[in-house]
Amino acid sequence: MAMTTSASVPAGSEAAIGGGSVTDRLVEANAQYASAFTDPGMDARPVQRVAVVACMDARLDLHAALGLRLGDCHTIRNAGGVVTDDVIRSLTISQRALGTRSVVLIHHTGCGLESLTEEFRHELEMEIGQRPSWAVESFRDVDQDVRQSMRRVRTSPFLLHTDDVRGFVFDVRTGRLREIDAD
Ligand SMILES: [Zn+2]
Repeated sequence: MAMTTSASVPAGSEAAIGGGSVTDRLVEANAQYASAFTDPGMDARPVQRVAVVACMDARLDLHAALGLRLGDCHTIRNAGGVVTDDVIRSLTISQRALGTRSVVLIHHTGCGLESLTEEFRHELEMEIGQRPSWAVESFRDVDQDVRQSMRRVRTSPFLLHTDDVRGFVFDVRTGRLREIDAD
């Protein structure tokens, strides 16, 4: 999947799918969801006491891929499943306020970040006259990137539990997880 710095998504792709905007269809789907919904009576603490940090990739259905059910886990997702300061913020709240103690990190094959470089920030600056404060966090070796993410979690001074941190690469073609050894 190519990423660009400008709005180059083809026009008319929405209309090809059906009437209304995609958000309209989501709202419609929610009305059906809510009509069949019964209050599960849970509190906010994840039942399996686990937080999953994963890429936002559309081909990764975390709950289905990991056999997770509603209420089981925290899911924290961003481009690449990168352990940024904001992910550490979420993990800190997850552990200290909501009782999780295991962390699972999931990157995947064919990630969009593999085709980017930090040059992306420079291109943005050229286009809009402002350089983003964030790093792109692009990578070439997905295994190394998972190891780096594990290191960032394990060495965070804010987290209570860093003894059960495991990292995986999800294969978007087979649906299978491959575990990455920590270094
Ligand atoms: Zn990805």
